[in-house]
Amino acid sequence: MLRELLLDAPGKKVLLLGNEAFARGALEANVQVAAAYPGTPSSEIMEALAAVAEEAGIYAEWSINEKVAFEVAYAAAVAGLRSLCSMKHVGVNVASDALMVANYAGVEGGMVIISADDPAGHSSQNEQDNRMFAKFAEIPCLEPATPQEAKDSVVIACELSEKCKLPVMVRSLTRLSHVRGDVELGPLPKEKKRPNLRRDITYTGFPAPDHHKLLHDRLMNIEEDLERVPFNKVEAKGGEKVGIVACGVGYNYAKEAIKLLKLREDDVAILKLGVPYPLPKKLVSSFLRSYDRIYVVEDGFPFMEEQLKILCYDLQIRPTILGKLTGHLPMEGEIDPEKVVVGLARVLGIDYKVPEIKVRGDIELPRRTLSMCAGCAHLATFYAIKQAVRREMKGDPRKTSIVCGDIGCYGLGLFHPYNMFNTHICMGASIGCANGFAQTGINQPVIAYLGESTFFHAGMPPLLNAVYNGANVKVVVQDNITTAMTGHQPNPAVGYTAMGKPAPIVLVEDVAKAFKVPFVRVVDAYKVDELIETIREAIRTPGPAMIVARRLCAELARRQARRKGIQIVPPTIDKMKCNGCKYCITQLLCPALIWREEERKADIDPLLCVGCRVCNQICPQKAITGGNGVADL
Ligand code: SF4
Ligand code: SF4
Repeated sequence: MLRELLLDAPGKKVLLLGNEAFARGALEANVQVAAAYPGTPSSEIMEALAAVAEEAGIYAEWSINEKVAFEVAYAAAVAGLRSLCSMKHVGVNVASDALMVANYAGVEGGMVIISADDPAGHSSQNEQDNRMFAKFAEIPCLEPATPQEAKDSVVIACELSEKCKLPVMVRSLTRLSHVRGDVELGPLPKEKKRPNLRRDITYTGFPAPDHHKLLHDRLMNIEEDLERVPFNKVEAKGGEKVGIVACGVGYNYAKEAIKLLKLREDDVAILKLGVPYPLPKKLVSSFLRSYDRIYVVEDGFPFMEEQLKILCYDLQIRPTILGKLTGHLPMEGEIDPEKVVVGLARVLGIDYKVPEIKVRGDIELPRRTLSMCAGCAHLATFYAIKQAVRREMKGDPRKTSIVCGDIGCYGLGLFHPYNMFNTHICMGASIGCANGFAQTGINQPVIAYLGESTFFHAGMPPLLNAVYNGANVKVVVQDNITTAMTGHQPNPAVGYTAMGKPAPIVLVEDVAKAFKVPFVRVVDAYKVDELIETIREAIRTPGPAMIVARRLCAELARRQARRKGIQIVPPTIDKMKCNGCKYCITQLLCPALIWREEERKADIDPLLCVGCRVCNQICPQKAITGGNGVADL
């Protein structure tokens, strides 16, 4: 599929993932520098671009965080090239420090920020709607509805950006980033631009009021262009009483709702809005004047709905605006065709019942909890932390310690049955919060837990802060030598770049030593006793401490073992020795460990087990022995 990103065949239709369509759009727009930090649902944009970057003659990188990605793209745009940075919605928070001045300072080449928002927080800690960020930063925002529009949006955003000299945001949603659809290819550019930095301009926000005015002028200059963006369109035959204003993928749901309710063509009109900020006012005003009732369909905050109400006030018209604020769509979670059809039926006074889905009652679905992967080194490290605290503080680790969590697959540690963390906010916040807890005078070990990619992203400043201010924090970095949660993207610990070029390996412990952390140890995460004892020693040693628990991500390790010809053989549980205490299952929580109710003994699922042999080490009866696999790497 990625080969098709380079197809020079205008007019040809190809099936692309939404995120691949964004990448193709970048190529068609002649984007020459692209940077990102991985994060679902945005990661595939940079994966696709990086895979073809060399052949396409562009530069693509995984930056260490979104702020750096933004700055890389921004500098390229200042040098007159077209550039792109992509990130998940919360990534824009990280980039916002730069964004909130780059908007004043302006760009020369077109700069696109793709924000992939995640309503319902499928893989995120919140549901923030970054159209608000575009408004906050006062930069234009486009919201495509289909993979075709995703591709076209990057081209249009680059053109708009170059015209108004502001970065332009393109808002995607999980359902667009991860849907596949036909995309008609446009032409690929034949020539690359050369960087041309205008040395007579200093790109800065100072003096702030002047530059703020410049920003407003620039925005005003493209008012007419925003009216003409082809993602805005009115579908009306005349005679309709109700108008739907639908933004982004909400348009697809609105069309579906009209079909499901079997409405006539003149029952409702649709204004499809692809520019949620700033509003194409002429188009929207004329639509608002035409209908008595307006049903607003959008994912995220009632962003359009509020703007429409304000516009109606200015226009001195009083159509009834219905949407999230009136309960016709839910304020939280993701909208879907069912929610939109229920809301539309209420607007139209149609008695509509959601068809009941019949589920066969005689099937008992297996009960599942959220779980980590079998053999995941995070499990061994979770176990070691709990044991170290239990032994050192002689009590329940939940009551006798504070463990600050961070962002990564190990975020699953928040949930039952792991219950690992007291706090879990954002990238790097494990060490940041640990700093704060330690300074409250709390008389318990304060442990920060994070992965190496998160450490490089936002963990280094709070670690330095701990050293500088003498915070008594114990930082456990689980280094699994990849950015596992988002699909195994490389990071500075891995040894190669997004474009597959060799890179120096930066070790977490070297950073800690350079920061003068007085206690730094590296332990194999599968050596459970050694890890427990090291954490205990760290707890006993006053001041900041860093323990790097290193083991390759179990999913990558399974592949690597296969390549090396290491056969995975699960350990054996001696049923005579096993007394059914369930300790291995309840304490380690490896999903490959299962319970045989009929014999009241533990067992190992050979399909899941990767042969890490951690369970061998923890069974109090020494009933688990043998096994090969990832432990032998
Ligand atoms: S060896 Fe034990 S802990 Fe490791 S994956 Fe297999 S069952 Fe799980
Ligand atoms: S910890 Fe050992 S003794 Fe207890 S259930 Fe597991 S295998 Fe059996």
